[in-house]
Amino acid sequence: MAEWRAEIEVDEPLARRLLRAQFRELELRALELVAVGWDNTVWRVDGQWALRARVALADDLCGARLLERWPPRGRGGWRASSARYVEWMSASRKKSLQEVLRERRSATPLLSAHELRERELARQREELEREAAALVARREGKGTPVDSDGKLAPELYRAVFAASPPAYFATRHWSRRSRAQRTAVPACEVARCGQTEGLRAQLVDPRAVGAEQPGTDLLTLCESCARRAVKRERELGRLPTRAELRELDPGRPLYTPAEIAVLRARLRESGR
Ligand SMILES: [Zn+2]
Repeated sequence: MAEWRAEIEVDEPLARRLLRAQFRELELRALELVAVGWDNTVWRVDGQWALRARVALADDLCGARLLERWPPRGRGGWRASSARYVEWMSASRKKSLQEVLRERRSATPLLSAHELRERELARQREELEREAAALVARREGKGTPVDSDGKLAPELYRAVFAASPPAYFATRHWSRRSRAQRTAVPACEVARCGQTEGLRAQLVDPRAVGAEQPGTDLLTLCESCARRAVKRERELGRLPTRAELRELDPGRPLYTPAEIAVLRARLRESGR
């Protein structure tokens, strides 16, 4: 779905770059953000100029569109303000109008199409993270799943998972996926187990979060094998793979006597 939204915001580093490339005569002592509008960002430059910067996603449309005297007066438009700037510059720098215009035209491109795309992707990522954080916070306040008002987009589910795995596993989406997995494979998939009671779904590939396919990205485990899977995950420091899960040994005690001793000691430590 294409969304109609404001174009890229021109932050301070980008504003400095725009100014340095297109208006190199300016001293750039002070840069002050005045307003972020729908398609313009306005910066006050050195207290006496207004930079109206606009960056669009079309390769040839990135640049400072206008630099006018501060405070901006009336609806001068790009041509009028540009003329005022050129006038000021040729007067103060003793350059001819032609020289100034030639310089402006030969200014280096400010952002490559690749950089623009990177900025746009980073912006989208940040937006998703913000949205996920808000959903997780709301869930903590209300105690309802983050998708209680309706299905979310897969990328938003992924962002929720990254922000808080417990919040993700409490979603309606996950409970539907888990049910689909248990219907597709109604027995524990650990090679030496095959238990058919107390089943749950185990996530195998975190990249599939939000659009997990039963039988591919999920695995059915019984309660006891699920505990072994948690232990294996802790040992590995990552989610175990499908093969590693299938190799779990349901016959072996979950903890060895040595591990139990360590756990007991830790418990005594914390109880003191
Ligand atoms: Zn099992």
